Amino acid sequence: MKVPMVDMLAGYAPIKDEIEAAVKTVFNKANFILGEEVTRFEKEFAAHNGTKYAVGVANGTDAIRMALIASGVKKGDEVITSPFTFIATSETISQVGAIPVFADIDPVTFNLDPKSVEQKITAKTKAIVPVHLYGLPCDMDAIMALAAKHNLLVIEDTAQAFTAKYNLGGKEWKYCGSIGHCGTYSFFPAKNLGAFGDGGAVTTNDDKIYETLKQLRNHGSKVRYHHEMEGFNSRLDTVQAAILSIRLRHVEKWTEMRNAVAAKYAEALQGVCVTPVVPENARHSFNYYTLRFDSKAKRDNAQKYLTEQQIANQIYYPIALHLQEAYAHLGGKRGDLPVCDAVMDTVFSLPMYPELSDEQIKTVTDAVKASLK
Ligand SMILES: *Cc1c(COP(=O)(O)O)cnc(C)c1O
Repeated sequence: MKVPMVDMLAGYAPIKDEIEAAVKTVFNKANFILGEEVTRFEKEFAAHNGTKYAVGVANGTDAIRMALIASGVKKGDEVITSPFTFIATSETISQVGAIPVFADIDPVTFNLDPKSVEQKITAKTKAIVPVHLYGLPCDMDAIMALAAKHNLLVIEDTAQAFTAKYNLGGKEWKYCGSIGHCGTYSFFPAKNLGAFGDGGAVTTNDDKIYETLKQLRNHGSKVRYHHEMEGFNSRLDTVQAAILSIRLRHVEKWTEMRNAVAAKYAEALQGVCVTPVVPENARHSFNYYTLRFDSKAKRDNAQKYLTEQQIANQIYYPIALHLQEAYAHLGGKRGDLPVCDAVMDTVFSLPMYPELSDEQIKTVTDAVKASLK
């Protein structure tokens, strides 16, 4: 049986009429650029996350770039982030003139290891960009403590972790993205809250960052043709905002369904390979479901076998950022971040979406088991 990585149409069918009516409304009003649907979605999105503000932008990459600028990251600053993420996290750091500094990851969660982060802090360090990888919250207690101690900004790359939660200080459950100075989100179709195209957002509780973000996304202007600064053309499209408002009403249920799929995967694969660990103080959003094997050969074999069986799979990420050609000038090499090196050689991700059936789950897990025989 063919199993795809994601199935966008499965999520569309039950809400097709609602979505098409909302899109038609925008078409009939023709308020395509920063229409009222954008403002409405921003309010709903901020309310969902428990933040004061949300600003809709063109995509999750621009969200990071503009969050960095709005919070004051400048040329020559060092920004510590994970090497085990999509390049959007680090290319935006470089693009604002700052220097990405990669710290090592934790061997169990695959998220930034706060001890390694602390070792990378210098007089030039301005910010930390934790990435809640696959939807698993980072150790935000430790990261916020480091930031407070060294006076650093924290910009949470929440592209894979919308609806994930973290029990901050063991006292208060907070959504990922609402803990640092800014949270950045992607509405790329395959993310937890996917648009029907590109989209993104930044959340913050800071009035000044909020005002700057609104200017930055619209060529640096508050009033048309009055530019207090240079900015970008990076607005959330009104059609996408109308779609996102509807999908937002369903996203918590979808995350529950993803967690149910994850539980079934974990049960079937117990003792076969390492399945994702969800600490007591976290709710995973399971944007991706990632396995770890005890050798690269076993991982590569499992991947080859699943592909032969037409079961989609993917390595997130096959080459860590410190080893990418794009960062050769930073001089990173194998052995610098040993945990990350070992993890990238031994993980791969299975199909994951809310509507995955029991039959599909069995097909996938049977194939993983067969590949190891
Ligand atoms: C998807 C993703 C981004 C970028 O989002 P886009 O909307 O595709 O620009 C950034 N960081 C991480 C970790 C992502 O997974």
